[in-house]
Amino acid sequence: MKKTVSMLFVFFVLLNCGELTRKPNERSENTSSENPKEAQVNEFAIVIHGGAGTILKENLSDEKEAEYRAKLEEAIRVGYTILEEGGTSLDAVEKTINVLEDSPLFNAGKGAVFTNAETNELDASIMDGSNLNAGASAGTKTVKNPINLARKIMENSPHVMMAGDGAETYAKEQGLELVSPEYFYVENRMQSLKRVKEKDAQKESDNASAFYDATIKDSKFGTVGCVALDKNGNLAAGTSTGGMTNKRYGRIGDVPIIGAGNYANNATCAISGTGWGEFFIRATVAHDISALIEYKGVSLKEAANEVIQKKVPALGGDGGIIAVDKYGNMEMNFNTAGMYRAAMNDKGELVIGIFKE
Ligand code: ASP
Repeated sequence: MKKTVSMLFVFFVLLNCGELTRKPNERSENTSSENPKEAQVNEFAIVIHGGAGTILKENLSDEKEAEYRAKLEEAIRVGYTILEEGGTSLDAVEKTINVLEDSPLFNAGKGAVFTNAETNELDASIMDGSNLNAGASAGTKTVKNPINLARKIMENSPHVMMAGDGAETYAKEQGLELVSPEYFYVENRMQSLKRVKEKDAQKESDNASAFYDATIKDSKFGTVGCVALDKNGNLAAGTSTGGMTNKRYGRIGDVPIIGAGNYANNATCAISGTGWGEFFIRATVAHDISALIEYKGVSLKEAANEVIQKKVPALGGDGGIIAVDKYGNMEMNFNTAGMYRAAMNDKGELVIGIFKE
């Protein structure tokens, strides 16, 4: 009896101290003022990528490099303006990605790579960090801007992911712009497919590693992505891609898989990835980075390093991520030769990069 009474006493003391009622978020807010690394760095911020891979200075003419830089700047300024005017991170992410999807320079929307069957099959996803709502579409062939479809799926349907014909039907019902498959045709993407197929044919056996050797080595990924923090503290992430050149058998990569190529959570950060999708799925790249912050309390940089510089390469994969955390810290982290990327802080300072520094 005495024991029960004293246990009850301890319980109520703890309850009054808030130890049993405090939610994890409240705990991290309480500690943020004590920890300088958790101070608000930017009221709002935006980061974009246009794919990672074997992007080398010697393979890119000055003219082409200038074209990439100009398009990255055009895209990020669209999102930046939305955020500066008090718009939502979701709008900033969607509209910024639209600019990249409409450019043939990137492997998303117009400019998507070709499958083995010489078709273009596009994947995209978007996530709202304020409520963990998410939308994704996979393998669409006629939706002009797949990121718009991902957002409609997130906001107007009870589902998270739609694929193939069903996704196209839903896009039509939602009044999204559809195009004929020829819209996506870009000559240099077709030439890339032919080169990859030739390499493939030179291989003696058709085992998985030979296929991947021919398909992936020396490849440039080219997916596009955007992450943003808005003035209301809401994070959002979006990613859009044509997938990987010469993909077969209805292959779907990491981009439409929430937690692999894309993730956003107001409690931690927003992440968009680009790279060898199979490894990003197996390493649950985007969610892993968020989880390291949420459960281990590490910084965004430490979390990104752990996953991109250690976990993914240890499995044999490569690629990179862009991210912004709830404090406005921005991160562009890759283990490839280069990654098309740009970032803007709340003072409007712009950084654009392509190669490793
Ligand atoms: N991650 C994409 C995929 O595997 C490719 C890319 O990043 O370009 O589908």
